[in-house]
Amino acid sequence: MPVLELRPHHGLCLLHFVGKGYSDAFTAHMTDTLATLCENPQIPVRLRSGADHLCAVCPHRRETVCESAKPARYDAAVLHYSGLQTGQTLFWKHFRAKMEWLSKRHLQEICGDCRWYPLCAELEKARE
Ligand code: SF4
Repeated sequence: MPVLELRPHHGLCLLHFVGKGYSDAFTAHMTDTLATLCENPQIPVRLRSGADHLCAVCPHRRETVCESAKPARYDAAVLHYSGLQTGQTLFWKHFRAKMEWLSKRHLQEICGDCRWYPLCAELEKARE
C-alpha cells in the first residue's frame, strides 16, 4: 500500500473536515483523501515537513512551502503535544487515534488562530 505523506497538523484538519476548504479543488482533494483513508485505515502515513499530499492543490502553496507561517507552527505544536516525530510512519488508524486524543486536549493551543478554528472547535464540542 503506498505511503501517504502528511504534514502533522493535517491529521487534525482531516479529523474535522466537513466539506469546506480554500478552493473547490482543495475541497475535492480533501474529500477524496479522507474517503480513501476511511476505507483503508491501514494506509501508512509518513509525517513530513513542508507541503504534503493535501497541499498539492492548495492555492496557498508556494513550491514546497506554504505562503503562511501558521502551518509550520501548527505542525511543531502537534509534534510537541503528541510526541510524534517528522519522518515517523504509522497507520492512519493509529495517527487518527492520536489526533482524536490531541484534539480533545490541545486544539486551541495548536491552531486556535486558524480561520477554520471556530468550526473545528464546534465539531469537537459536539463529539463530547
Ligand atoms: S482549526 Fe485549522 S488547522 Fe486546526 S484542525 Fe481546523 S482546519 Fe486544521
